[in-house]
Amino acid sequence: MGDVREYQLLIDGQFAPAASGETFETTDPSTGEVVGRVSKGGREDVRRAIEAARKAFDSGVWSDMPQAERSSRMHKLWEILQQRLMDLSQIEAEDAGHTIRMANLFSIALGVEHWRVTADLANKVGEYEPVETSEMPALSWGLVRREPYGVCSAITPWNFPFILMIWKAGPALATGNCMVVKPATYTPLSTAEFGKIVQESDLFPPGVFNVVPGSGGAAGEELASNPLVDKVAFTGSTEVGRRIMQLASPTVKKVTLELGGKSANILLDDADLDSAIPGSLFATFLHTGQICHSGTRCFVPASLYDEVIARMVELAEGLKVGPATEFETDIGPLVHRTQFDTVDRYVQIGIEEGAKLVTGGERVNVPGHDGGFYYKPTIFADVTNSMRIAQEEIFGPVLSVIKYDSVEDAIQMANDSIYGLGGGVWSRDIPRALTVAKRIRTGTVWVNDYHLLSAYAPFGGYKQSGVGRETGIWGIREYQQTKYIHVDQTPRKDQKFWYQIAGL
Ligand code: NAP
Ligand code: MG
Repeated sequence: MGDVREYQLLIDGQFAPAASGETFETTDPSTGEVVGRVSKGGREDVRRAIEAARKAFDSGVWSDMPQAERSSRMHKLWEILQQRLMDLSQIEAEDAGHTIRMANLFSIALGVEHWRVTADLANKVGEYEPVETSEMPALSWGLVRREPYGVCSAITPWNFPFILMIWKAGPALATGNCMVVKPATYTPLSTAEFGKIVQESDLFPPGVFNVVPGSGGAAGEELASNPLVDKVAFTGSTEVGRRIMQLASPTVKKVTLELGGKSANILLDDADLDSAIPGSLFATFLHTGQICHSGTRCFVPASLYDEVIARMVELAEGLKVGPATEFETDIGPLVHRTQFDTVDRYVQIGIEEGAKLVTGGERVNVPGHDGGFYYKPTIFADVTNSMRIAQEEIFGPVLSVIKYDSVEDAIQMANDSIYGLGGGVWSRDIPRALTVAKRIRTGTVWVNDYHLLSAYAPFGGYKQSGVGRETGIWGIREYQQTKYIHVDQTPRKDQKFWYQIAGL
């Protein structure tokens, strides 16, 4: 067993134990062994962190700093993060089960890149926007100023702990807000390590960025409801997202939510199957299917159905399931026993519903790693869109392949879902793919690819997949209030609008 990493809460620039003195342990999904021991923040700790953030914000030490200076400090942190890429990847592999190849190339590297791009974009767009001069009802000139909300809280899930935290902390801090972050109980280590890097960098005044790991029911609820919080950013399940909205409503907080998905991946009959078939497996099996925008409903034309299924099965059976930290591993473990049990339960549901299990559907035994939560990449054929395995988010390596007759049917089924987060269209004919992409009610559509997230593009959900957008300029705007400043251009009293109306 390796070293156990230990972290305390980061509040007001200081590391501190929880008021209760409690800690919790986190485990490596590849082995089941303890890899971290973290202070367990409760409501009292969260309140202290929120008060520190409030004090920092109200003092103006961060919010009044010129934009260029804030962005430049974030740039300096980016340089440090680049030095720490390997270490952060190792933490994400050990704590969250990210395969080391995915962490290096995607989850950590992209998170660090998004941090830099956010800092740059915030600097580029500036604080002010012009407004057209209006003569009606009276000559005026005006301007719009983008201002930070104040104290923002962030609650993140266990699947992509680092990058989903960056998607919130990046735009919040770049635009002058102060923040308190609560990572998921299963996977707090990369966020706690980021907090440590921030603290040691001395680039951010005390209270600007605080980290309070703790349970959703206590720390999370306090973050969503505390009156001193102006904005809550949440990524997680749709069920908890509904609760966050409720908790935020008595004090009418700004809320952004990134929630669940059951995304449609549509192969058109002219798709290049040599990339569409592996691409569709990538769409579902990346991070063992534990991705909110995974393309877990794959729509295949009837004319190609048998060929596609056969080729998918052959490819899926060649994937190497193993420990996240081993370089050869294609598919890592599920995050936790609970998630393993959920996936296995859904496989039984699929069988009972009459879908045809064509591969997988069982545990993989990895020698020497009996404590890990390994599951075979699983494919169901003969799935209908109304089955539970086509409607409910499984969050595991389970692909439902649905046959369609006309493209119209495929679009109709794709939209028959409470979710609308991701989606894919595969075709050699780009204009044709675009007509389909336009008709899918979802926040992101990849044409002839999947999962690629640009730092310059918006990400978020339609329908019950969420509210608001993260990343790019759209993500930055979610952390800014819009203030209109009206400057009257009528110097004499008798030119004033109110004089003409009220005779004052
Ligand atoms: P979850 O159970 O909703 O938890 C997410 C976060 O909320 C965790 O930090 C959790 O704390 C906290 N939480 C739980 N109950 C809470 C409450 N009553 N009040 C405040 N906070 C509370 O989700 P998960 O199981 O970690 O993650 C999987 C889900 O996230 C999936 O549905 C997936 O689709 C979604 N997801 C969406 C996106 C997206 O961008 N749209 C990205 C990734 C994941 P604990 O850890 O202590 O429970
Ligand atoms: Mg959970």
